[in-house]
Parts: sequence; structure tokens; C-alpha cells
Amino acid sequence: MIDAIPAVDTKRIHRIFEAQQANQYNVAESSAKERIRKLQLLSDAVMKYRPEIREALYKDYRRPVAEVDLAEIFPITSKIKHAKRNLRSWMAPHKVATPRSLIGSSSWVHYEPKGVCLIISPWNYPIQLALGPLISAVAAGNTAIIKPSESTPHSSAMLRKIVEEVFEEKEVAVVEGDVDTATALLDLPFNHIFFTGSPEVGKIVMVAAAKNLASVTLELGGKSPTIVDETADIGTAASQITWTKYSNNGQICIAPDYVLVHESKLDAFVAAVKSRIREYYGENAAESDSYMRIINARNFRRVKSYLDDSIQAGAKVVHGGKTDASDNYIEPTVVTDLPLDSPLMQHEIFGPVMPVVPYRDLQEAIDLIRSKEKPLGLYIYSKSKQNVNRIIQSTRAGGTCINSNAVHFFNPNLPFGGSNNSGIGKTHGRFGFIAFSNERAVYKQILPSALDTLKPPYNDAKLKMIDMTIKWF
Ligand code: NAD
Repeated sequence: MIDAIPAVDTKRIHRIFEAQQANQYNVAESSAKERIRKLQLLSDAVMKYRPEIREALYKDYRRPVAEVDLAEIFPITSKIKHAKRNLRSWMAPHKVATPRSLIGSSSWVHYEPKGVCLIISPWNYPIQLALGPLISAVAAGNTAIIKPSESTPHSSAMLRKIVEEVFEEKEVAVVEGDVDTATALLDLPFNHIFFTGSPEVGKIVMVAAAKNLASVTLELGGKSPTIVDETADIGTAASQITWTKYSNNGQICIAPDYVLVHESKLDAFVAAVKSRIREYYGENAAESDSYMRIINARNFRRVKSYLDDSIQAGAKVVHGGKTDASDNYIEPTVVTDLPLDSPLMQHEIFGPVMPVVPYRDLQEAIDLIRSKEKPLGLYIYSKSKQNVNRIIQSTRAGGTCINSNAVHFFNPNLPFGGSNNSGIGKTHGRFGFIAFSNERAVYKQILPSALDTLKPPYNDAKLKMIDMTIKWF
């Protein structure tokens, strides 16, 4: 059992940072073949320690084996496969067109690593949200320090073991610890900071990054809405939404936070969700091996207070509602009749409570979504092309699934990330490689340049040529 949070080890942090600074150009010069070899070693280590990873996540918060394999192991191995297949083309110089005014030259984009990077990760997917960004960082030729979450100490210890087996600390290292450790790291002049966590802490990270003008990728959270319109297949909607809402006990950044259902389908949708909950987790979810717990007492109290205060404000629990503080247990819960200013409709829930809100006209649903911060995910269940197009065009979100939830995360050809309050920058596949790269512009003069004829002294003939340049090019 791991109990104590490691204290800030400033000496170790500085030693690693300086070693990585000194080593960064060696790592940057590595070929695609060398980077692919390192990624393969990482994949092999994750597979080797798969049983221990399952055990660590069970100790941290009773994560079912199926969810560990599907949501921690598979994202890593599939991302590595994708990077291995595509890295040569990502790294290759990208030739760009030459305008007529610059005839006699050629230009391309050279992808250079940003340098020494910091990856700060959260607890809800402690392995894949630390190693996922690391795959992009390594693919792009950077060195990196990972600061995993203090809330999942067994998983963080596993991460350190895996990383230490694959990398020397002058290339990649894990520094465990809490806010104090994160703060000590954020004091250092990293070249890029990749943060995954809450919008509140994202702002702190961005302020710290500003001191060194470090670039940032911020993968944040917020309230991701789901719309179920009058044409939706209720069976599909209920089964998908129930799975993504209660998996990981609702502690998923792209979980459907609240569901907006056309009033004509409200009763059918609620009935279908209740029946799916029973099908997935049995009559008593507390006894189900497939049902997890809230990560810790603090988060248990947070979600319970949102529920209690919303009930006080008039919300009705139509399914579930039982809680057990001794086990951080909240039953899969469905709530209706919510005042829009109740806590469940104001804060990211990050727990197993599903607010269902009816709407009469699609514009009402759109207006409600627009009244909140831009979400990380927005999901639409509809058979109407017109409704789908209207929702996509009149709302903003990091990503959208149609007739599904959250699955866009698993397509590495799509950019993953939020917008403003739900995040800055994108990751996954080539987008992750770009996030950890500086796109360096390279211009090569091949033949004498026409611009040479415009050099001083500026006489009338040259002014005429400049006029012609403005007119013709
Ligand atoms: P968090 O923001 O509390 O913590 C994330 C990390 O930041 C941890 O490593 C923590 O130690 C560190 N941290 C906490 N306070 C800090 C501070 N003051 N200064 C510097 N570092 C600090 O988030 P969490 O509770 O671990 O995760 C839940 C949040 O993360 C939710 O909002 C969720 O939506 C979001 N999230 C987003 C994504 C995504 O991909 N966009 C993925 C998972 C979780």
C-alpha cells in the first residue's frame, strides 16, 4: 500500500531538468528508426506490466479489468502502432508552394522538437493520459518530465517503473508528487507544457508558462452536452449514453455531462436508461464488479453536494440516488426537473449522475449550450441530417460524435482537444506530433532573386517596379 505523497524533491527535479537540457539536442537528432524503437520498447513494457497496471488501478479506485484494458492499455498500444506507421511521413520536411514573386526559391516546413517538455496528468486515466502525450513528445524528438496525479499513487508508481525501464532520466523521467511538486516544476523554463486536468488548474499552468513564454497544450474539461432529438433511436441513445456516463463512475472528461431530450421522447428515454442501468450493473450496482467508485472522499462530497443541493432546489431523482460515504459510492443516478441554476447544471459533474433536461424546440437546446462555456465534447443523437447540421453550425465544441458518445477520442486521425475553457491546442496522432514540434519555416534561394532589383537606392524606376509588384503578384 502506498500512503504518503512524495515530498517535493527539488534536488532531483533540478538534476533531471539540467540533464535533459544538456541532452535535448542528442535526442532531437534521433532518426525516425530510433524513435520508433523507443516507442516499441514503451509498448512492450506496458504489455509486460499489464497485470501490475490492472492491479494498481484496482488499488487506486477499483477499476474493472475490462476498463483498464480498453481505456488504459489499448489507447497506448494503438497510439504507438499509429505513430510507428506514420512517423517517417510526420518527420519528413513538408514542401510548400512558392509564390510567383519568389520565383527561383523553394520552401518547406522543418519539424523540430520543442525541446524539454513537462507533462502534467490527471488521475482519471492515470496511465494513458500520461503516456499518451509522452508518445507524441518522443515521436517529435523531445525530452520530457511527467508529473502524474497524486490521487492515484499506485498507478503513478507503475508509470515511474515503466518509464525508468525504457528511458534514461536525461531523456524521460517521472516525478511523483502533489501541487507543491507541480509548482516546483512549473518554475522551470520548460519549452513546452502539456497539461491535462481541470480548467481552474489549467489557468494556473498558463500563468506559470507565461513567465518563460513556454508554449502550452491544455487538455481541460467542462460540461459536455448530449442532445437526443425527436428523430433519435432511443435504444441506441440510451445504451451509449448509459455506458459512457457510468463508466469510470462518470469520471471521464468527455462523458456526457447532461442530456437534452426532446420532450416527446423524455419518458421513453428515461425508461430506456433505467433499463440499461439494470442490464449493465444489476439491481444493486454496489455489488457489481463492473461498477467503480468515486476516486476519493473529497470528490465524493463534491458530487453528493451537487446532487443534494439540486434536490433541494427542486430536482427529482428518477433512478438511483443512494450513497455510501464509507465507500465513496454513488449509485448510478438519473435526475429530472432540474432548475437550470442548480449545481448539477452549473458545474462539471465528473460523477455518476445524469441530469435529463427536456426541450420543446431545438433552438432552446442550442441556446442552453451556448449559454455555457464551450464544451470538450458535444453529442447528437438524431436521424435528421438537417438537425445535425444545424446543431454543428450553431454551437462550438472541441469534438462531436453523431449517434455515439466520446468515441472520437479513439480515432487517431482526428484532432483531440477543447476550445477555450475546455482546452487550448490539439493532440493525438499527427496533431500530437505537431503540438510537440516547432514548425520551422525554411526558405532556400536557388536562382538570383527578383527582389535584388529592388534594393536601395530607391529611385523612380524602383518605385515603378514596386508598383508593378503590388499590381501583379
Ligand atoms: P486537476 O486539475 O485537479 O489535476 C491535474 C493535475 O494537475 C494533477 O497532476 C495535479 O497534481 C496537478 N495540479 C493540481 N493543482 C495544481 C496547481 N495548483 N498547480 C499545478 N498543478 C496542479 O484535475 P483532476 O482532478 O486530476 O482531473 C479532473 C479534471 O481533468 C476534470 O476537469 C476533467 O474534465 C479534466 N480532464 C481532461 C481531460 C482531457 O483530455 N481534456 C482528460 C482527463 C481529465
